[in-house]
Amino acid sequence: TTDGLKKYYTMGDVEVRALNGVSIQIEKGEFVGLMGPSGSGKSTLLHMIGLLDRPTSGGIFIDDKDVNSLSDEQRTMFRLNKLGYVFQDYALIPELTVLENVCLCSMVRGEDILDYTTKGMNILNIIGLSERTGHLQRELSGGQQQRVAIARAMVSRPDILFADEPCANLDSVNSRMVLDLCKKINTEMNQTIVMVSHEDWHREYFDKVIYLKDGVVDSIIEM
Ligand code: ATP
Ligand code: MG
Repeated sequence: TTDGLKKYYTMGDVEVRALNGVSIQIEKGEFVGLMGPSGSGKSTLLHMIGLLDRPTSGGIFIDDKDVNSLSDEQRTMFRLNKLGYVFQDYALIPELTVLENVCLCSMVRGEDILDYTTKGMNILNIIGLSERTGHLQRELSGGQQQRVAIARAMVSRPDILFADEPCANLDSVNSRMVLDLCKKINTEMNQTIVMVSHEDWHREYFDKVIYLKDGVVDSIIEM
């Protein structure tokens, strides 16, 4: 839930009102699309509710918790424990295998190798890439790379998965593969997903579409 969310960027002495009072509600288990023209504030809104940046004013509540009141350190912990992200560029490490990329966070945290490889293999099974665990990024198609990025975000079982135009660099076949996968984890794992998109045909995948225009909610359509 957000309440009158505003985000102003200042560039020199120019003020950009990227979000100008956005109040929305996202339910657990929903697959929500954020849509609207370029510059309408979709990415900015995603960054605010994904706790990647702080709003200028307005409230953000996740599970009724006022996340604005958290310290920077608490926010980081909240992000690591409860939120997952997928972006346009897959941000995989080219020297690491698929499985290593998926387990990267656990590796860095020094968790038990047997534990995290099991978890990593589980999620790669669900995502349909269990045959590819030893491959490197360059050996995968764009759609497969993006699915690895989704597996990496999902391995910690986040409460909310945020995705900013995950299909922007993909052709329609690969886009469908990625969207089908998101729909599958949404329905089978009851995964809440918030996805920015500007492709009209993606709407068929969403439960709800929030249209932004000039930094405000233009309309909300339940699909
Ligand atoms: P697109 O579809 O092109 O990705 P968007 O809907 O995601 O667009 P935002 O990136 O949220 O739009 O941008 C909203 C407005 O805020 C734009 O006018 C943009 O130029 C401005 N903006 C975004 N990020 C910053 C920033 N870090 N500093 C200054 N202005 C910014
Ligand atoms: Mg954007």
